[in-house]
Amino acid sequence: MVTLSLWNLKKEFYKLRCVSCGSIVPEKDSVSVCPACGEALNVEFDPAAFKKRIDKEFKKTAPISAQKYLPFFPLDKSARIVSLDEGGTPLIKIEKISRELKQPNLFIKHEGMNPTGVFKDRGSLVEISKALELKAKAVVVASTGNMAASVSAYSAIAGLPCYVLIPENTPLGKLAQAMSYGARILSIRGTYADCCRLAEEMAYKYNFYLAGDYVFRSEGQKTIAFEIVEQLGWRVPDVVVVPVGCGTNLAAIRKGFVEFKKLGFIKKLPKIIAVQPSGCSTVVAAFQNGLRKAPFVAHPETICSAVGIGRPLDDLKALAAIRDSGGSAVAVSDSDVAAAQKKLGEIEAIFVEPSAALSLAAVKRLRTKRILKKSDTVVLIATGAGLKDPKSILATHPTPPAVEPDISEVDRFLKYKLYAIRSAGFAERKKTLFKKLPTLARLRTTIKKEFAADLKNTHLAEIRSAIETFITKGKIVAKADLQNLVEEALGDLTYEKKVMRVRDYELQIQQKKRPSAKVVIEFQGKKLKAESRGVGPVDAVISAIRKALDQKSPLSEQLVDFEVFVDADGTDATTEVKMKLEDSRKNYVVATANSPDIITAAIAAFEKGYNILYWKGQKS
Ligand SMILES: *Cc1c(COP(=O)(O)O)cnc(C)c1O
Ligand SMILES: [Zn+2]
Repeated sequence: MVTLSLWNLKKEFYKLRCVSCGSIVPEKDSVSVCPACGEALNVEFDPAAFKKRIDKEFKKTAPISAQKYLPFFPLDKSARIVSLDEGGTPLIKIEKISRELKQPNLFIKHEGMNPTGVFKDRGSLVEISKALELKAKAVVVASTGNMAASVSAYSAIAGLPCYVLIPENTPLGKLAQAMSYGARILSIRGTYADCCRLAEEMAYKYNFYLAGDYVFRSEGQKTIAFEIVEQLGWRVPDVVVVPVGCGTNLAAIRKGFVEFKKLGFIKKLPKIIAVQPSGCSTVVAAFQNGLRKAPFVAHPETICSAVGIGRPLDDLKALAAIRDSGGSAVAVSDSDVAAAQKKLGEIEAIFVEPSAALSLAAVKRLRTKRILKKSDTVVLIATGAGLKDPKSILATHPTPPAVEPDISEVDRFLKYKLYAIRSAGFAERKKTLFKKLPTLARLRTTIKKEFAADLKNTHLAEIRSAIETFITKGKIVAKADLQNLVEEALGDLTYEKKVMRVRDYELQIQQKKRPSAKVVIEFQGKKLKAESRGVGPVDAVISAIRKALDQKSPLSEQLVDFEVFVDADGTDATTEVKMKLEDSRKNYVVATANSPDIITAAIAAFEKGYNILYWKGQKS
C-alpha cells in the first residue's frame, strides 16, 4: 500500500455526472448509478485543474504501470492507494497470425498478465482505494467470476471484508481465486443480472461499498489506452478491438484516448470496435439497429462466460464510445471463439480464456465487412488469462491417452500418432456420425477422417461394441460421442487382451427394497455368476461383479473411489462414468466410460479399470 502525499490540489477537480439525465451526483449519494434515473455515471474533470495536476505530477518517461497514471485518477490527495502492481502488461506483435490473416500490424494487449489475470485489476486499484477514502466498512460485488477475483484480492490488501455474489456455474479458476483471497462467497441460483440486483440491495441495506462496473472502475481501466499509446512509441493505433460484457472497459479505453488527446499527448483517436458472442450480443444489437439502449437478453448462451451479461450496465457509455469514435460492433460464434483461443495458444503461446479470444475471433469478419483495412494498426484486447477457465480448453481438446510407465507404450503413442488426434472441436460436436452400427472398415475410415487417428483392430472392435450400445438404446452417435469412445479406447493402450468381461446382467428395482443385481461374467474364459444387493442400482451391479470375481480372481481389487459425471463432454445422449480402482499393492487405475445409460457406462468403466489393474499386477 502506497500513501500519496504529492497532490496539493483542491479537492473539487472532478464531478460525477449521469450519462443519461445529466444530473450532478455527489459522491456521498452514490458511487454506482444515478439516484434519479438509474443510469451510469461518468467522471468529468475540471479541464484547467486536471491539466495543472497532470503537468505537475505526471512523469511521462516513467515505465508504464497503472500507478504511473495516479494523477489521472479521481482520488483524494491523502488517499491510500491499494495496489498489486497492476498494468504494464505486454503489447505483443503477433507476427505469425498477422501473416495468416493478411493483417500486417496486429497487436495483442495481453491483460491476462495482470495480478489476478484480468484487466479489472486496473479498475480495482481505483475502486478499492476510493472505498477506503470513503471509509467503507465492507465491499459487496456481483460478478461472473473475474470481478469477484479481482475485487476480493484488492479488498484483502485493503483489509476490507468482501462479499461476493456469483452465478452457480462460475468457472472454477475464478471461484478458486476469490476463495483464496478470503471472499465471503454466496452462490446464486440465477444469472449475473440477478446477482447484480441482489448486490445493490445488499449495499443499500447494509451500507456496504458497491463495487463493480461503476464509475471509478472506468477511471482505472482507461490506463489500457495510455499504455497502448506509450508502447507504440506515443503513436495511436487505427483500431482497438474490445470484448464487451457490460461495456465498461470499452468506454474506459475510449475515455483514456480522449484524455490523452485533450492533453495534447496524441493528435488523433482510434476507432473502437466492440465484439460480443452471438449468444449474448446486447451492445452489438443496439449498435446495428441504431438503438440508444441495449436490448435485454434473458438467457445468455455462450462459452464466453465473462461477457454473458444480459443487461449491460454501461451500454449507453459503450454505444456512445463506439459511435463517437467512428467504430463498429460485431458478434462472433462460440466456435470461432474456440478456434481463436486455440490459435493464440498454439501459434503465439498466449493462453487466454474464451472471452479474451473474442477480439481475435472478430478479425476475419471485420476484414470481410471492410471495417478493417489491411494497412490499419490494430490492437486486440485479450482481456483475461486462460487458467481461469481451464474447462473451456479441456472441452475442445482430446483427453491425453493414459499409459503404463513403459517405453513400449511410448512407442505405440508415436507409431499411431496419438498426439496428433484432432478433437471434435466446437462446431462439429453434435454432428451425427452413426444412426446404425457401422462395419469395422467404415468405423476405421470414419475415425481416420474425423480425428486423424489410426487405431488397432482390437481398439476398433471395442469402440464398435460401445457404439452398439448406443444404437440398441435408440441413440445416434454424434461426433463428440465418438471422440469420447476413441479417447476411451486410447486409455486401453495398456492391455492386449481382456481377462474379464461382463457378459450379462439383470437388475431388480423395487420402491421399498434395495436394488438387486445378477451378473454373468467371463474370467479367463470361464463363466462365473453372482448376485448382490446395493444401495443403488450401480452399486448393486458392481458389487455383484466383484462377488463373481472373488471366486477366481487373484486380484483383491478394491474400489476406493467412484465418481459419476453426466454429460461431461459428449452430447446430451451421453453419460460419462469415471471410476478409480485400487489393488492391495496400491496400484491404481482411473477408468472412464461413456454410454447412453449410467449402468452400462459404470460396468464398462469397471471392466476396463479391472483389466488394466490386472495387467499392472502381473507386471509389478
Ligand atoms: C469483465 C470481462 C470482460 C468484459 O468487460 P466489460 O467491462 O464488462 O465490458 C471481458 N473479458 C473478460 C475476461 C472479463 O473478465
Ligand atoms: Zn440520471
